[in-house]
Amino acid sequence: MSEADWISKSSIKPKKRLSQNFLIDQNIAKKIIRLVQGQLADRILEIGPGLGILTELLLEEQYRVRAIEIDKDLVGSLNNRLNTYPQIELVHQDAMDYNYNNLEGPLWILVSNLPYNVGTRLLVNLMIEVPVIHRYVVMVQKEVAERITAKTGSREYGALSVASQLFTKPKKQFDVHKNSFIPRPEVTSTVLTLQREEILDEAERLEALNLAKTAFQQRRKTIKKSLSSEQVNFDRLRDIGINEKSRAEELTPEQYLLIANMVLDET
Ligand code: SAM
Repeated sequence: MSEADWISKSSIKPKKRLSQNFLIDQNIAKKIIRLVQGQLADRILEIGPGLGILTELLLEEQYRVRAIEIDKDLVGSLNNRLNTYPQIELVHQDAMDYNYNNLEGPLWILVSNLPYNVGTRLLVNLMIEVPVIHRYVVMVQKEVAERITAKTGSREYGALSVASQLFTKPKKQFDVHKNSFIPRPEVTSTVLTLQREEILDEAERLEALNLAKTAFQQRRKTIKKSLSSEQVNFDRLRDIGINEKSRAEELTPEQYLLIANMVLDET
């Protein structure tokens, strides 16, 4: 049965408040799963499995999947659809409240058509706080994908770009048209992969992110002004090749790291 038939025959009514736009195009779903590129030892975490279009393909590929779904009605229908697969673990919970320390090692890959309402916040939290997730294959609104992958100096470049690029290598893969979903969302979606880098200098990355957030809160000001309440030694900035008259969007993630390193050095 196709996803569209599944929706029309079941009693499921998509809930807007839970950002339920179900993917109905099997070819797109297969293209997403090809990007997972996991080893069989990798575990898969799926957030918001919905009707299970991605989940079932992952299970067919023999991956072990833990899927967290907030909607009780969907958990019921997923149980029916997927009960022949022993490697699925369905968790009925809000993904914002899930304890990600429960992700036992070694490595996990997050696969998700992220719910728009919480997607960006969740993604940033996971990138920062959950190092066992080493790869992300996610669908987000196109505009969010552009912010995540934005180049320094571009209009879309902001704290979200710095956060994503400090912790991962994000890559835009392909766009997905609104007609590939039921109900049809208002905007185009984009599938992204984000490969986590090995992070040895965790404290520096966090400080760099803190500086970027502060600077972008006053993006029209020079960093000399916007970062004046941080412990930045502006006399030393020149030595590391950074102009104190730069504005937030002119600094690369690497330059935020350099400033963070200097701040931590001096405190
Ligand atoms: N993966 C399915 C697909 O591709 O068709 C559904 C994607 S739909 C955009 C988002 C899914 O996330 C829905 O199933 C929704 O119920 C679920 N969801 C929304 N908020 C959630 C939350 N806070 N925690 C867990 N799941 C959530």
